[in-house]
Amino acid sequence: MAEPEKVYQCQTVNCGCLYDPDRGDRRRKIPKNTDFSELPEKWCCPVCGATKRRFRPLAGPGSVKDEHQ
Ligand SMILES: [Zn+2]
Repeated sequence: MAEPEKVYQCQTVNCGCLYDPDRGDRRRKIPKNTDFSELPEKWCCPVCGATKRRFRPLAGPGSVKDEHQ
């Protein structure tokens, strides 16, 4: 898995889907090593369909941990 700063998690209730840039998103033809910030704006959560804005990184500024402090 990529660095936690680069792994984004869906913040929708009961989802928690992770976007790992090391893996990309094969179903949407997103190649490996694509940073979350490089995903097309219309990309959405493969599980619940949430938009990119609902995702937060696992670490670093604006991350999940940040919000709970
Ligand atoms: Zn989701």
